[in-house]
Amino acid sequence: MIAFTAHDDVTQLEFTSVRSRLSGMRVSAFVVRNVMIDSGFPTSADELRRWVAQHPVAGAALTHYHEDHAGGASVLRELGVPLWMAEATQARLAAPTPVRFYRRFSWGAPRAVADFTPFALPPFLAAIPTPGHTADHQVFWDAETRTVFGGDLFIGVKVRIAGANEDPRAVAASLRRVIALEPRRYFDAHRGALLNPVVRLAAKRDWMEEMIGQCERLFADGVDDATIARRVLGADRIGRLYTGRDYTMENWVRGVRRGSGGARADVNPCAVPQNRDIP
Ligand SMILES: [Zn+2]
Repeated sequence: MIAFTAHDDVTQLEFTSVRSRLSGMRVSAFVVRNVMIDSGFPTSADELRRWVAQHPVAGAALTHYHEDHAGGASVLRELGVPLWMAEATQARLAAPTPVRFYRRFSWGAPRAVADFTPFALPPFLAAIPTPGHTADHQVFWDAETRTVFGGDLFIGVKVRIAGANEDPRAVAASLRRVIALEPRRYFDAHRGALLNPVVRLAAKRDWMEEMIGQCERLFADGVDDATIARRVLGADRIGRLYTGRDYTMENWVRGVRRGSGGARADVNPCAVPQNRDIP
């Protein structure tokens, strides 16, 4: 199912399915002045096909390779819609890796995308690399209206569980980069339009930096990762039970310990219930 919401020059397409609603998940794509940002998940692709057939777009741009953002790209390609994606995203989508059951349950299995017509982003829209959530993550910046299409950079202020390859220092740096733009509007792929985006993004930056600092102080004391996760982040139930340990609090701690180099991402932090651990 796609629910449509108009925000002046932006149309929000909120994708859900019976299965995604069961697990409390939804994801949005956006259309700004005839350009689509992200494309929903694989099991919503046929609905996307019908909508785009009636509402042609000039092209589509992807924030990152996760299947709830890139899942409609194969259908857009079939419809002849030109696509923009970062090179790292392109490499991921050419040969998608299998995903765990809880992700297939909510979103469907990823579909390969290759041999597409490249889309040149229009002058009003810039891609800004914002790694951390995944190494290929981009946000799109409309400088004319001071609007950010943020993909999964935000998700929530305190997202206490992380995938194995998330890079907390890179997330904090990407947040600082986007805050410096002083956006007036911000569209999050899971939360929709954010009120007071600079305040919300700064709150997340502060929480991330505090968490990183606490981890570093405990590393210096020789404390192990599981203990640090409990002390800094609290009891972890949802990550272990629901995602089969794909997403855990300990992953944040490991990410801090690893430093900020070269994250390889094959787990999907957006594919966990967004109503948990997020104020
Ligand atoms: Zn994601």
